Amino acid sequence: MDTPPEKAVFFHFRFKFLAITSIAFLLYIILTGASELDQFASSPQFKLVGPFFLLAGCFFLIFRRVPIKCPHCYKLVSTRKDWTCCECGTPQGKERYLVDKCLHCRQVQATASCDHCNKDFKL
Ligand SMILES: [Zn+2]
Ligand SMILES: [Zn+2]
Repeated sequence: MDTPPEKAVFFHFRFKFLAITSIAFLLYIILTGASELDQFASSPQFKLVGPFFLLAGCFFLIFRRVPIKCPHCYKLVSTRKDWTCCECGTPQGKERYLVDKCLHCRQVQATASCDHCNKDFKL
């Protein structure tokens, strides 16, 4: 009997994508920027660093709020709720984002359950 693989919602993928974009941007700045530090500080690349990371920070805040679509019932599931940890099974006791680590065992959540159909899915 083969059990079908657990369905994924690519929740953590959002943040990986953001991290990869930030690293690629940093590499671009380092590789194309002036080699002298005083020249670098006045280069157009350097002026992009501030706005870029401000934007990346905004995206991070937006991404963790954007609800997940349940892969089973296709209803929207909030990313902020009193979730139960999939590692230690302890409820958080207050509303927290799914991207946060467990208050008790400090584990990042690999799965979450749907509020509507109670089925589990990978984040
Ligand atoms: Zn835990
Ligand atoms: Zn569901």
